Amino acid sequence: MRRKFFALLLIAFSTAATAAELVRVVETRNLPQEQLPAPATASHELRLSICTFKGTRWQTADIVAATLDALPLLAQCGIAVAAVELKVLEAPLKFRYYSVPVARELLREITVAKPALFFVDDTYSEPAYDAEAIGLSNAKTRPELANTIWFAYGAHDLPFAIAHELVHVLSDNGDHSEAADNLMRPETSPGSTRLTDAQCIRMRGVAEPNGLLTRRAGAPRR
Ligand SMILES: [Zn+2]
Repeated sequence: MRRKFFALLLIAFSTAATAAELVRVVETRNLPQEQLPAPATASHELRLSICTFKGTRWQTADIVAATLDALPLLAQCGIAVAAVELKVLEAPLKFRYYSVPVARELLREITVAKPALFFVDDTYSEPAYDAEAIGLSNAKTRPELANTIWFAYGAHDLPFAIAHELVHVLSDNGDHSEAADNLMRPETSPGSTRLTDAQCIRMRGVAEPNGLLTRRAGAPRR
């Protein structure tokens, strides 16, 4: 009886401190502009956020390198990258493990431009995907998570996974392709990097009104 009482008391105290007091952005920086893909023929621009955690197993240098390898895969759709902002968060351990309620709590406490990539130590999702992308249309019950992507530590073929999940979010759909060389095969791999014209048109056409891509000044409509 007594033991149970103390356990309940502990839970009460540990939830008394709100996330607002516990989550802090300890570093914000922009990746160097000259490292971002800027194809001359681009019609649209993407601004991307990356969030990682102080003390995580992820190495920031690995995240940055994988992101810089991923972004050129979007250039085939006429998408240039205008900015990538990296934030390092200091937060209690629970925030480094993805679950919908905890992720929602985190997103209520920090301001981050979308689309945003989050690099967590693991996921509580079942099945435990390497990466989980939440678009606008599948965020109705979890609006804070719209246009975010969550990568669990150890996600394989990371640059291809980042590009693949970004296409899901920008296109706001979960569509896959069976074509051998297509980036949107259900399993990502370094040999599958292509996007078809139809995939590009759909992605630009959906992402622009959703505010995830900006049309470049003077770019022709296509
Ligand atoms: Zn997919």
